[in-house]
Amino acid sequence: MIVPVRLGSRGYSIVVESGALATVGARMRELGVGTRTAIFSDDAIMRLHGKVVEDSLRTAGFSVTRIDLPEGESAKTLAVAERSWDALLAAGLDRSSTVLALGGGAVGDLAGFVAATYMRGVALVQVPTTLVAQADASIGGKVGVNHPRAKNLIGTIHQPHLVLSDPDTLATLPARELACGMAEVVKTAIIGSPSLFEKLRAASAGGAPQNDPTLLESAVRECVRIKGHIVEADPFERDERRVLNLGHTLGHAIETAAGYGTISHGEAVSIGLVAALNVSLKRGVATSDFLEATKAILIASGLPVHMPVLDAAALVSAMGSDKKRRSSGLTFVLPVAPGEVRIVSDVTEDELIRAASA
Ligand code: NAD
Repeated sequence: MIVPVRLGSRGYSIVVESGALATVGARMRELGVGTRTAIFSDDAIMRLHGKVVEDSLRTAGFSVTRIDLPEGESAKTLAVAERSWDALLAAGLDRSSTVLALGGGAVGDLAGFVAATYMRGVALVQVPTTLVAQADASIGGKVGVNHPRAKNLIGTIHQPHLVLSDPDTLATLPARELACGMAEVVKTAIIGSPSLFEKLRAASAGGAPQNDPTLLESAVRECVRIKGHIVEADPFERDERRVLNLGHTLGHAIETAAGYGTISHGEAVSIGLVAALNVSLKRGVATSDFLEATKAILIASGLPVHMPVLDAAALVSAMGSDKKRRSSGLTFVLPVAPGEVRIVSDVTEDELIRAASA
């Protein structure tokens, strides 16, 4: 399946296809980019999936430089970005060169940030290998690094030239990482797909929905379709795209307050989704059936739905540095029904903390 993201001259395709990794070189040739490319990845991912990508690039006539990143969140620092700029310069990559991100959201965010800034911007190809990255992070161009005060505070929007998702890569993903991706899948279903929500609800009665590869691939496709449309409507995150923050206001705060790496992004989003539903329920805009169905899907997926024991002051302080905060109050996405959400800006911190602890 190929989903076009129509953004005028900055439009691009998202390919979701079994075996897609081996086609990356040929597809990049079609883009008409220069012949130098740098693969950003970590050791573990390169060992599993690097050879197919490298071979495909070389066969298509690309020279390949490898930029080795630390695993996971520790890649998202300015120090790693600086080392990467140095390595690109040393390898002679110029403005016509391409940065290829092979990995999860952390690799994609860091590589994208380097691509956005190196020589004022070079082409970026996202080859996501986690469920989080395939369903969400690789699409839309949000790139960046973390700041000690909060995640993703330093960054920009740099749309990729191509996103190439190969669902086969998910087979090597550790179970916990796959479960974390389900939080983004459930989020996307709540935002825009009653049919995906129903499929997940039905599957979760029999165990973890992600254990069915056919369902998993169709979930990735549906998420890509929905996120692609949202990005088309609002490429710079000024309006409609804010719906994608569903579950993230509190999720980011939990991640920060717990300390990066203690609780994963997906686990924090899962707790954030349930908290958002609790706010909706208290305000009378969502039903308890919707809340219970969402919890059942998240629990079947192996995700937490209750907040860990955290210092409330640290949580409030982490919410205060969230980028989505506006002077009038906290901008917040309320789930209304499967496929329907509403943005409000009058949610108080107290209301959120009460909902998170419910
Ligand atoms: P991750 O990138 O941290 O990767 C998790 C682990 O999975 C790493 O250890 C990696 O080596 C391993 N891995 C990756 N692919 C693998 C595979 N196929 N087989 C085996 N192991 C594999 O985790 P993530 O959940 O993909 O990404 C989280 C990051 O994404 C966060 O930093 C978050 O802020 C970011 N994010 C960004 C956006 C966006 O719009 N830019 C959206 C959502 C999340």
